[in-house]
Parts: sequence; C-alpha cells; structure tokens
Amino acid sequence: MDIICPRCLEPWDSSYVQHEMTPEERQDLQTGKGCSCACRANPPSSSEKTAGASAALQLRGEDLDGAAALTDNFGLSH
Ligand SMILES: [Zn+2]
Repeated sequence: MDIICPRCLEPWDSSYVQHEMTPEERQDLQTGKGCSCACRANPPSSSEKTAGASAALQLRGEDLDGAAALTDNFGLSH
C-alpha cells in the first residue's frame, strides 16, 4: 500500500518509505516538507486530497503501514 506525499500527492510504497528512505527523507515526507527535490522545487498541490494525505500521516505517526491503510480508506491512493 502507498503513502501519499501530502505536498505533491506522489504515491510512495510504505515499505520503500520505511526501509529505503533516510530518516531525514522520511520525516520530510511525513511532515509535509516534501518527498524529493522535484517536490520541494514545485509549489504544493492545491488538491483537497493533500489534507487527507497529511491527516493519515499525522494520525498514524510512525505506523506507516497504518497510514497507508488509512490513505487507502480515504480513497486517496486511486
Ligand atoms: Zn512530494
């Protein structure tokens, strides 16, 4: 299942986020600072989905699988 970047709505596989990203990259993604250089170089998405993606990450904290499940429940990952 995917985590959605709350800044650009890019989907990231939750296991990739947990195991491949550095702690700094993971924190930036989770806190909405951006998931990549390209993400940070562009203005944040104005889609209403950003609020749901951000809420899923904040509600679940370190539980990225839980956040991915919640993101899926919100219908954001489609
Ligand atoms: Zn992003």
